[in-house]
Amino acid sequence: MAGDKLVKGIVSTIGKEKVVTDPSIIKLYSREPSGYTARELPLAVVFPETVNDVSKLVSYAYKNDVKIYPQGSTTSLAGSAVPLNGGVVLSMERMDSVVETSVPDSYTIAEAGVRIDELNNYLASYGYMFPVDPASSAVATVGGAVNSGAGGMRGAKYGTMKDWVLGLQIVLPDERGTQMWIGCRTLKCRQGYDLTRLIIGSEGTLAIVTRSILKITPLPESVVTALAFFPTLEQLSQTAVDIKNSGIQPYIMEFLDEKTTQAAMELADTSIKGSGAMLLVSIDVNREATRRMLSWLVKVLENNSATAVYTAETIEEAEGKGLFDVRRSLFPAQNYLSRKILGIGNPMIYIEDIAVPPSKLVDAVREIARLEEKYGLPTFMGGHISDGNLHPAVGFDPGNRDMASKVEEWFYDLMRIAISLGGTISSEHGIGLMKKKGLEMELEAHGAGMMIGIMKKIKLAFDPKNILNPGKVV
Ligand SMILES: Cc1cc2nc3c(=O)[nH]c(=O)nc-3n(C[C@H](O)[C@H](O)[C@H](O)COP(=O)(O)OP(=O)(O)OC[C@H]3O[C@@H](n4cnc5c(N)ncnc54)[C@H](O)[C@@H]3O)c2cc1C
Repeated sequence: MAGDKLVKGIVSTIGKEKVVTDPSIIKLYSREPSGYTARELPLAVVFPETVNDVSKLVSYAYKNDVKIYPQGSTTSLAGSAVPLNGGVVLSMERMDSVVETSVPDSYTIAEAGVRIDELNNYLASYGYMFPVDPASSAVATVGGAVNSGAGGMRGAKYGTMKDWVLGLQIVLPDERGTQMWIGCRTLKCRQGYDLTRLIIGSEGTLAIVTRSILKITPLPESVVTALAFFPTLEQLSQTAVDIKNSGIQPYIMEFLDEKTTQAAMELADTSIKGSGAMLLVSIDVNREATRRMLSWLVKVLENNSATAVYTAETIEEAEGKGLFDVRRSLFPAQNYLSRKILGIGNPMIYIEDIAVPPSKLVDAVREIARLEEKYGLPTFMGGHISDGNLHPAVGFDPGNRDMASKVEEWFYDLMRIAISLGGTISSEHGIGLMKKKGLEMELEAHGAGMMIGIMKKIKLAFDPKNILNPGKVV
């Protein structure tokens, strides 16, 4: 059927006010910060307001072979949210209510379009939080975080989405747009194969998530923080390992390499001063233990050659002193440095997302430094060091073919390093379009290459007409 007829059909199915066809708006929903853009613009962006709207749209799309690209806030860094070839974007923006919260049952139920920071502002009134905090949490949605399997700074203690989702309301890409709940409202739940965890990280390829039952946890009584500088990345990585060896589980443990630290300090406009690489450690404590924990932490940092240490006894004090600002400037710093080093106005930044077992951090850091020498590409490092999740990044000129092909080689070498150290090619950003080959490499390295075929069969079982986010993951 021709595009305009399909759009008419969608409008009469779901309502005119929920369908946007203005090409300049469609373009806004056709790109990602990863750099991926649509090959063919979608016909429309559809904004469902209820789960019934989603079902009606999906049923229409199934019957008329229309591709659907579900989106939250389109902050994916892996090419998972971008509409590839026509079809329609299904934006969950208008489904943005927190539906129910039960403190005794430790859960909250949120619609897919609720932004993570908004959810946490709301939960704070109960003295609770949802602890998964991607750096994009000001805009990232619950549905997007579920589907990308997101993590964040508090991952040091709380892990990623797969640890915090109890159940989901989903709509299947079938003839009726079937709605159902999977998982439970209870903390313990066995329902045969774990379909909830199958949907988490499935990147919108299996079902549309309309509501999520999320586990919540009390806000910590207090949090102490130390920001320290180290002469080398090896010393910093060893400090992270020593902290973990001590039996303390940090609440947050983040790092930036020397170049990025210096640039981030410039951009953050901070009074903090220090040279070398930066380590940021927060530990949640009972109020009575504040001083004892902070002095223990400072001692560990200083014993590992920290050259300058800034401390705060509470989160409020840490925010007031700007202790988190340097880390938060990671992405702007990478951009700033790339522009400066390459001497171009609009560099492309490739942000990687590997993880290695934390005991292998020092090896990983050395190997990545060797890659920088091998390719001569401006390389920056930072990330969630407590769980071994590194975000090495390279800046390059996309118009320079030589450089672009070096970046591709760097990218595959980097994934090989992660795999050879017993790690993974993707910790939290996902597979999308960017890491389909990397996923094959990792599974093959574990003798599990045939799992790609099994994943394709799972995709077919959920989505027999391949209308949901086609071309992504497998
Ligand atoms: C500056 C910046 C910092 C970031 N920091 C982090 C970080 O610290 N940790 C981290 O994990 N990620 C990070 N990311 C990546 C990204 O922000 C997160 O993965 C985030 O959770 C995605 O949310 P979103 O609403 O933007 O989802 P989108 O990007 O819109 O979508 C992500 C995936 O989910 C699918 N999807 C979205 N909603 C639904 C739905 N309701 N049903 C079915 N499928 C759906 C999409 O099709 C896509 O495959 C960062 C990105 C940026 C730009």
